[in-house]
Amino acid sequence: MKKTIKDYELEGKKVIIRCDFNVPMKNGQITDDTRIKSSLRTIRYAINHGAKVILMSHLGRIKTEEDKAKNTLKPVAQTLSKYLRKKVTFVPQTRGKELEEAIAKMKPKSVLLMENTRFEDLDGKKESNNDEELGKYWASLGDIFINDAFGTIHRTHASNVGIASNLPSGIGFLVEKEVKELSKLLKNPKTPYTIILGGAKVSDKLGLINNLITKVDYLLIGGGMAFTFLKAEGFNIGASLVEKDQLENCHNLLKKYEGKIILPIDVITAQNMTDETETHLRFINEIKEDEMGLDIGPGTVKTFSQYLNDSKTIFWNGPVGCFEYKPFQEGTKKLCDVISQTKAYKVIGGGDTASAVTKFGYANKMDHISTGGGASLTFLEGTSLKALDIIPEKD
Ligand code: AMP
Repeated sequence: MKKTIKDYELEGKKVIIRCDFNVPMKNGQITDDTRIKSSLRTIRYAINHGAKVILMSHLGRIKTEEDKAKNTLKPVAQTLSKYLRKKVTFVPQTRGKELEEAIAKMKPKSVLLMENTRFEDLDGKKESNNDEELGKYWASLGDIFINDAFGTIHRTHASNVGIASNLPSGIGFLVEKEVKELSKLLKNPKTPYTIILGGAKVSDKLGLINNLITKVDYLLIGGGMAFTFLKAEGFNIGASLVEKDQLENCHNLLKKYEGKIILPIDVITAQNMTDETETHLRFINEIKEDEMGLDIGPGTVKTFSQYLNDSKTIFWNGPVGCFEYKPFQEGTKKLCDVISQTKAYKVIGGGDTASAVTKFGYANKMDHISTGGGASLTFLEGTSLKALDIIPEKD
């Protein structure tokens, strides 16, 4: 068990908390503040235990000087201040005198938010490449480091691995919960155990398939990635998404795990991916040359439902259609409904699947929705999570 924030005496200490404030923004406004809300428990705990709370996070990607204005954390400080009902001092810098003086002036129970850690990427990707000097410098600003950013826990950055290498460290409540819930999918899951995979690419999910295929009873495949499997089975998939370099892998998996991998039997096709396009329901042996399969059909929903209704553990990663467009959202929406009504332990991977479940109003009907898309996939691949590994075990 990893050390957590509860294992440290925080009174009067400068506690750096690495949060995940990578929130979606439009015209300088936060469009979804779920990630900010998810970080509150750890921040409140630190405040209530008398810490001087120094918050760090990345936001978006910083490749040019112009990216800075769009990705400042200033609006996050305002939202945080509203939820915490206290002042959050925002320092528009990632190093230097102004930051150091603001920290020196902090009183116990006060909160400071430093500017986007990725501003350091403009100068030789210092944050994203875990520059040693930067990790040491940020660590020098605090006494204790708490990592509560699950979304980047699989990355080796200066603001996670770098700081943790130089300070007594632990995890926050959010990371602790993610690890606890996702571990249930790896260690003694209740069976029947069903995984649904969708989304665009097979290659992104091959690691997870290889690690979990022997543990699960059924692997239901939808979304764009289903078409590489269908082509490997010999179907004509028209203009649907295909990863040619994965055909052999898919063929081998289908042969080795016959009866375990369940593919769509019908799909919704169209010539364009737009809200107004004309759509067709096709059995998978009827797809026309100029059509793309963009959602699963009602027959597939029914077949998938039979497996899901029986399951005691369900993990879902990747929408089964292009749910961002109205004509192709039905499959994903129906699966949300079916899964929410099962008695299974139900876990939703982060990223697009989490957005879809939230968009269709099923978020509070799931047992766990991960806050990290790539991180939850890496965890389930059984690959090491660098920023978690560096945190010491409890004594
Ligand atoms: P991923 O990040 O790999 O989980 O992919 C998510 C994306 O896959 C979403 O933006 C969906 O629109 C897209 N997607 C789902 N089904 C299909 C499909 N049949 N063809 C192309 N893209 C799809």
